[in-house]
Amino acid sequence: MLRDIYNRPLKDLRISVTDRCNFRCTNCMPFDEYEWIDKKEILEKINGGYPLKEIGRDKGSAASVDYEFIDGGGELGVIASVTEPFCSTCTRARLTADGKLVTCLFSATGYDLKKLLRNGATDEEIIEVISPIWGKRTDRYSDKRLEAMNSAQGYRAKDHRKIEMISLGG
Ligand code: SF4
Repeated sequence: MLRDIYNRPLKDLRISVTDRCNFRCTNCMPFDEYEWIDKKEILEKINGGYPLKEIGRDKGSAASVDYEFIDGGGELGVIASVTEPFCSTCTRARLTADGKLVTCLFSATGYDLKKLLRNGATDEEIIEVISPIWGKRTDRYSDKRLEAMNSAQGYRAKDHRKIEMISLGG
């Protein structure tokens, strides 16, 4: 969640809660130049007017931790990838439009599968290529970002090259 230029937090969130629509706060693709509100702060603010009960992370690996309103008014999810990263349970992968398999939404590179796909590889052949890539995966960008944020040097977005979301898909 963002604060607006007048430092007003959660304005849109308040509208969503009163309208009782299911929604998610933040996402896994933060824009580094904005200040982010801590998950605890988001939940405290909502709980103050609309008490919540935690449901949990869908399938144990979903990006959001979901909550339901105790009065039965709906659900919401909080994706706290900045302040509470979940790399250890992440199952995200993307295939870019130019045929690269990317194993983290913040990867700097991908594995080129274009030739394989264009040559009509079978599902089994594709699995044979992808499995070892996935098995060796060590991605933990958000974990490292939090470590850097908590370090003396702090986190500097420009030090971390990554594929732009516009190429990667959300
Ligand atoms: S491994 Fe990458 S895509 Fe997965 S949660 Fe961490 S930062 Fe996000």
